[in-house]
Amino acid sequence: METVVSETSAALQTVDAVVIGAGFAGLYQLYRLREQGLTVRVFDTASGVGGTWYWNRYPGARTDSPSHVYQYWFSDELLAEWDWKERFPAQPETERYLNHMADKFDLRRDITLNTRVSRAVWNAQDARWIVETESGDGRRETVSTQYLITCTGPVSAPMLSPYPGHEAFKGEIVHTARWPKGGVDLKGKRVGVVGTGATGIQVIQTIAAEVAELTVFQRTPNYAIPISNPKYDDADRNALRARYPEIRQTVWSTFVGFDVDADPRAYADVTPEERRATLDRLWADGSLAFWLSGFREAFFDRAVNDELSDYVRDKIRVRIKDPAIAAQLVPSDHGFGTRRVPLENGYFEVYNRPNVRLVDIRAAPIERVTERGLQTAAGEYELDVLIFATGFDASTGTLTRIDIRGRDGLSLKEHWARDLRTAMGLQVHGFPNLFMTSAPFAPGAAFCNAPTCLQQQVDWISDCIRHLREERQARTIEASADLETRWMAHHDEIANMTLISKTRSWYTGANVEGKSSRVLGYLGVGTYRQACEDVKAKGYEGFEIA
Ligand code: NAP
Repeated sequence: METVVSETSAALQTVDAVVIGAGFAGLYQLYRLREQGLTVRVFDTASGVGGTWYWNRYPGARTDSPSHVYQYWFSDELLAEWDWKERFPAQPETERYLNHMADKFDLRRDITLNTRVSRAVWNAQDARWIVETESGDGRRETVSTQYLITCTGPVSAPMLSPYPGHEAFKGEIVHTARWPKGGVDLKGKRVGVVGTGATGIQVIQTIAAEVAELTVFQRTPNYAIPISNPKYDDADRNALRARYPEIRQTVWSTFVGFDVDADPRAYADVTPEERRATLDRLWADGSLAFWLSGFREAFFDRAVNDELSDYVRDKIRVRIKDPAIAAQLVPSDHGFGTRRVPLENGYFEVYNRPNVRLVDIRAAPIERVTERGLQTAAGEYELDVLIFATGFDASTGTLTRIDIRGRDGLSLKEHWARDLRTAMGLQVHGFPNLFMTSAPFAPGAAFCNAPTCLQQQVDWISDCIRHLREERQARTIEASADLETRWMAHHDEIANMTLISKTRSWYTGANVEGKSSRVLGYLGVGTYRQACEDVKAKGYEGFEIA
């Protein structure tokens, strides 16, 4: 790393790569680039490493991916020494794992925490990015870098409450993705939760017994699968470790980056009895297998999806005592699996409790926060704590909240507002030497076991940078407009065949006003990885290298 004095900045630090984000992807990206001898700075707004697993410390936060696929594959030593405690680890365990990774590989010395990247401007003359940062204590830094790599996560930019009146509220308001480190005292309080997605469901089922009154403000009911989450002992871990070599190969080629894939049989070839037996077996597994390794037609064929949806509706309905409440909790406006399916643990039984009430905010929308609670069109609800589990501006939000300027001052935010597009989710035409992970139109934006896709993209980016430096002695790489156009056509062709494209959710950007309506994630981890490998094998075909 060298420090030079420029006319515009007192001390401009020069590095080979700046990585934004110190979560799963950012830590691994730092490790990979250091291996090549690059100088790297990593910046993260948080006060610790871990990304999603730093921020989402709300009650009940845990993975919906089993630990044996939710991990790094690059280090045999790490695989051998890390003992997962349960099948679906809770937030503290995953956060500990990522801290362990940072310590084991001595990553912290290149990571600057409490620091937000506010601006990044491409300087065509020097073929470098000028990156500006702001720290929590008001310090600003400017760094010149050849490569800028965003590891900002698919679901990281919280959608804060859009309702007026926050300042009047006498209690505490918190978004689940900004849960205070010291926790929130909920015991014996009147608590309101807005949102019933994967996050809301985990919060609601976890706090219902602890609070005095729980009011759930629901706009859209969700399907959910009961979790089976055994604690692991050494025998369980050894059995899984014995399978690691096989799992580590499999995850790259499946539909969504797990170690299981969709049923190979055509739905039409299976008798109704066999179908039922298959669904029962998958349901009993207590994982996302019911969604992801069932019949693939459920994603495309309305009739098949209807059958599956009815199966799940029946499972939900019988768990709720009051038929009127059951009618509100059973989804009817979308098919099973067309939005993200959460795992749950006693979620539906929560509504049998006397201290829990369900409020339909589709029928009577929220109007504002008041001094005492929340006002809907039907009346005021008195609360001590108001929890917003209202989700994220997925995939694009973290990037458009940074002022990123490419060639000729092109703003990424404005560019994407006009036309949201990427080349394979790895680059955007007009933004040389900017690499992205979990950006739109790669599987990691939405449809992937996140660590699988993040590692695949980091590996691809790292190989690409090695190629540019060692084999081409090149200064810049930029996706061509043609590659972007071809990729978008390919992406849209697959996405538009699915029922997901016809359903409102964060998967299609429908949760953010004004966001481009396009399925955000590429469908098919295996196909995507093959496409990336093909591009690489052909000397990064479709990318302009200079
Ligand atoms: P989400 O799925 O987008 O759910 C947000 C919820 O808030 C929905 O119920 C939504 O209603 C409601 N909502 C949003 N804005 C609202 C508003 N202004 N007024 C009232 N209600 C509003 O967000 P999430 O639950 O945080 O989950 C996001 C993603 O994070 C998940 O899909 C998953 O990928 C990831 N995640 C994973 C885990 C895990 O692995 N265990 C856990 C949590 C989250 P509508 O549906 O009507 O829009």
